[in-house]
Amino acid sequence: MPIDPRTLRIPRDLLPEDGRFGSGPSRVRDAQVDALASRAGRGLLGTSHRQAPVRALVGRLRSGVATLFALPSEYEVALGVGGSTLFWDLAAYSLVERRSAHAVHGDFSAKFAQAARAPHLSPPLLVEAPAGSRAELDGAARGADASSVDAWALVQNETSTGVAAPVRRPRLASGAPAAGLTIVDATSAAGCLTWDPLEADAYYFSPQKGIGADGGLWIAALSPAAIERAERLAGERFVPATLSLAAAVRESRKDQTLNTPAIATLLLAAEQIDWLNASGGMSWAAARCADSSGRLYAWAESRPWASPFVEDPTIRSKSVVTIDLDATIDAALLREVLRANGIVDLDPYRSLKRNGLRVGTFPSVEPDDVSALTACVDWVVERL
Ligand SMILES: *Cc1c(COP(=O)(O)O)cnc(C)c1O
Repeated sequence: MPIDPRTLRIPRDLLPEDGRFGSGPSRVRDAQVDALASRAGRGLLGTSHRQAPVRALVGRLRSGVATLFALPSEYEVALGVGGSTLFWDLAAYSLVERRSAHAVHGDFSAKFAQAARAPHLSPPLLVEAPAGSRAELDGAARGADASSVDAWALVQNETSTGVAAPVRRPRLASGAPAAGLTIVDATSAAGCLTWDPLEADAYYFSPQKGIGADGGLWIAALSPAAIERAERLAGERFVPATLSLAAAVRESRKDQTLNTPAIATLLLAAEQIDWLNASGGMSWAAARCADSSGRLYAWAESRPWASPFVEDPTIRSKSVVTIDLDATIDAALLREVLRANGIVDLDPYRSLKRNGLRVGTFPSVEPDDVSALTACVDWVVERL
């Protein structure tokens, strides 16, 4: 009688130390949780976010982010409650003046474009590319409609497909940057992929993916032009309080948030940002993500039954790796067996419906755990 694959037990010496490989929420390191449970952490939980101790924590997070990204001194870090999803609505009210243009090549970039259909705006200009490839905005910036656009939306890492894009203002034929704000969704790229702050006006993320903390907040690095736009629009149109970037900047300057944040999330995020800075900053983090993702891509290319979903190696993400498996392998069953062995959250993005794996290779993930993961997949596939 064939054995039921669900009963397969991977030998202990093959297993990764930590089996969390999700693309978001992603692995939270023990040291962060320990900091939360320490005397200092416990003393912050359940206390007022308007008082000095929690404000100092917010200040530590803001300055840690500015250090990590080497922000120019005139840039500011703001934050608020609601995650990147809320930031899309906030951008539609506080950053887009009349019309935005979006590079759309997956679910997250499509969701921001959807949020930009707000009734006070002109319908957004969409530049679309199929999942697994990348849409570029340069053509739109040179096109006849460019003068109607005052905000350009990019996603540095399309988490649904594992396609990465450089943070770069769209360029005119002359090579000069297009007029308008450049707004970058960095939710699964922040802390993983390098970027040049001068190429973005609003670089935003929630901290449960690339940063490896917990969800519920949005954090944004803002240029003077973005802040100026937000303040002007707040005077010119009705902006709901939670969607007011001007209000968020005002609160952030006092190391506060408009409404009550999750203090635990702030602490987990601040710990991680400090760890990244102490470990060598963005160049160290980016090299670590390149190492981890490189191990996976090389492994997938060396197996006859696996291949990277993103065909063009130059646009493959170093922080979210998507791998297709041959139709002879039941990837759902493979993931079920892995989960039963403590290796979790390898599911491809739900709407993509691929027979494969998606792996978060964020800085919190040990590169050797990625190698162990590939050994475990080999072991299970041999027995399916
Ligand atoms: C997860 C994700 C979001 C949404 O983040 P929330 O914190 O759930 O609002 C937005 N953009 C990208 C690229 C993401 O990966």
